[in-house]
Amino acid sequence: MTSHVYLGIDLGGTKIEIIALDALGNSLYRTRTQTPKHPDAKEQYRAIIQAIVHLVNDCEAHLGIQHSPLGVGIPGSESSETKLIKNANTTCLIGQPFRYDLSTALDRSVQLENDANCFALSEAVDGAGQNCSSVFAVILGTGVGGGWVINQQLIVGPNHICGEWGHNPLPWPSDQDEPKQPCYCGKQGCIETYLSGPGMTQQSHLQFNLTLNSHEIMAQRLNNPQAQKSYEAYVRRLAKSLASVINIMDPEVIVLGGGLSNIDSLYEDVPKIWGEYVFSDEVKTQLVKNQFGDSSGVRGAAWLNK
Ligand SMILES: [Zn+2]
Repeated sequence: MTSHVYLGIDLGGTKIEIIALDALGNSLYRTRTQTPKHPDAKEQYRAIIQAIVHLVNDCEAHLGIQHSPLGVGIPGSESSETKLIKNANTTCLIGQPFRYDLSTALDRSVQLENDANCFALSEAVDGAGQNCSSVFAVILGTGVGGGWVINQQLIVGPNHICGEWGHNPLPWPSDQDEPKQPCYCGKQGCIETYLSGPGMTQQSHLQFNLTLNSHEIMAQRLNNPQAQKSYEAYVRRLAKSLASVINIMDPEVIVLGGGLSNIDSLYEDVPKIWGEYVFSDEVKTQLVKNQFGDSSGVRGAAWLNK
């Protein structure tokens, strides 16, 4: 048995997953359970705590270990002031002292991070960015998020928003990018309204009168000129948005995750044009696909204690 075991929990809206990693990143144990549902938010919250306790106890019993360090990825964040959960789409967590309650129930300290930061850490420690000193990890999915890892350390910042580029405005906007669409955050024209999956669908409708989702756009683009134009507009917006990040932090590598990261042509097409916006005569930053896919969240949670 390896002496160091790192436990990670990925708490999602539909499932809770646990992984046990050894120090080399080998998976020693992994299982998942349904996220408990209950009409009463307090009951659901209690049930989620209990479900995590069961997962941890079963895992440690299976491996013959106890009191391993635990990291938890959640779809939200902890207020640095109140230590209560905010911005969680598993809404029963909101306003709860989740870390404290879990620490008490499991008799150990617990590290907590949002899922984008767990993704970033996973890819930086032993994923697609493992040999790079500076990694910007981007999620292009239902929403647009991101996280920064420098020298294998997650950067969170005093406001705990490091890497949240999705709610900056789209940089270098052109006439094509009008009219700006409202974002759930209260602003208009956020990067997320262009680059998320729903954003791509909405923009292709507004701009090219397509009623296709992102999968259909990609499937049809070779035979449908409007779908091809929609894809090209997406590429340019992604290139502009990433170029503005490169101008500020100049990362060695940018790792894409989320559903839209499966568009393989992005890794060739975006770097072809981001040089138009980067303030340099050459761009050495690499744009790469994630290595661990859906496993990044739970692996990154485990690495919170590395
Ligand atoms: Zn926004």
